[in-house]
Amino acid sequence: MNSIFFTNVHEVLLKNTKKFLLEKLDPIKNEINEKKEFPLSLLKEMGKEGFFGPLIPSAHGGTELGMIAHCLITELISTFNVALSVSRTPCILDGYLLNKYGSEEQKKTYLKNIATAHKICSICVTEEEAGSNVAGIKTRAEKKGEHYILNGSKKFITNAGLADYYFIWAITNKNVNSRQGMSVFLVEKDTPGLTIENPYNLMGINGVWNGIVNLQNVEVPETNLIGKEGEGFSSLMDTFNVERLTLSSECNGISMVALKDSKEYVRNRTQFGQPISSFQIIKFKIAKMATKLQAARLLTYSAARLMELEQDVTKEASMAKAFSSETAVKIALEAVQIHGGNGYTNMYSAERYLRDAKFFMIGGGTSEIQNLIIAREELKKIHQKNEKFFF
Ligand SMILES: Cc1cc2nc3c(=O)[nH]c(=O)nc-3n(C[C@H](O)[C@H](O)[C@H](O)COP(=O)(O)OP(=O)(O)OC[C@H]3O[C@@H](n4cnc5c(N)ncnc54)[C@H](O)[C@@H]3O)c2cc1C
Repeated sequence: MNSIFFTNVHEVLLKNTKKFLLEKLDPIKNEINEKKEFPLSLLKEMGKEGFFGPLIPSAHGGTELGMIAHCLITELISTFNVALSVSRTPCILDGYLLNKYGSEEQKKTYLKNIATAHKICSICVTEEEAGSNVAGIKTRAEKKGEHYILNGSKKFITNAGLADYYFIWAITNKNVNSRQGMSVFLVEKDTPGLTIENPYNLMGINGVWNGIVNLQNVEVPETNLIGKEGEGFSSLMDTFNVERLTLSSECNGISMVALKDSKEYVRNRTQFGQPISSFQIIKFKIAKMATKLQAARLLTYSAARLMELEQDVTKEASMAKAFSSETAVKIALEAVQIHGGNGYTNMYSAERYLRDAKFFMIGGGTSEIQNLIIAREELKKIHQKNEKFFF
């Protein structure tokens, strides 16, 4: 795998990232799960190390190492504790969005803070009545002079309460289709009218902040509109491709560590006078887990490579996301089974991997929605007159 996608730069990055994570995250990865909180200082240190900057130019504090480097860092963090990566994800997405669609002035003001994790971000799209149907959002932004007034409520927002920057998607023109009437705004945490609620706990990814973001007559200067008015839906769809490959890498990190733990366990656990690794059924489980993981990583890294080549990866990112998330759940479930009774306790990490993995079939667009996108793209091709050959 490494020799197909990784250059010498990636190999050095891999070595340095691993060293940092072994020293800083490995010793507390289980404590984070048990206490359901992580030290914010660690997220900030990751920022200083450049973990938030692969998609941001060096002129704005990033490392500009590219999409493969980003997937590699994401995968590695996730092999230790995926919650840290999930908390970093909105910063990656908002950084990408701002760099591609923001004005020079906005980039100067905000991008370095995001690239270095000096400020933490959130991405606020989902609402009570608009989850899978993103175009159904009701949050409004009305222009008043040189300001916009935002009203609405966002649900399930990662980093709600932790973030400094809230990127809010809202309808700016209700007289046109919402795909053309949606815009995105940067709202800073202490802006009057922005309030946070954290009324529930999550099933997994313990430590991640998640909650509701309420906006009541929140006044933001027009200079906080990211991109053009009406461009919010298309810039979001573009950003979703980065999100899907980020989430795929998080899944693959979980699958990698679940497989590693399983291999160690089957070698060490003895039943009927022999290591359970000698039983053919166990061998087949390991073989299937390894094959699925390989396929998930190939889908993810090949889509990342295509993105670096500036190709449209809508279909490939959805394929990677749907396959990697379902693979992570299957591998984590098999890891629990392989660990027997121990797998059902918190003495081993397999149960954490399973709870963590399930999130990824829902967040960032459910598996059903990914499959709808894949089918739409496939069927679009068949209707194109010139498509005469399979490739
Ligand atoms: C831990 C966590 C973190 C999150 N973080 C964020 C965040 O930071 N920012 C943000 O904006 N959102 C966030 N979300 C929201 C997430 O993106 C949504 O939960 C997700 O898109 C699904 O929306 P929903 O929950 O409203 O489910 P619904 O859309 O109500 O879906 C319910 C079920 O119906 C299925 N379904 C819906 N429509 C169709 C269809 N057309 N065809 C077939 N099946 C369909 C779905 O696949 C699903 O199985 C987060 C969610 C979670 C759980």
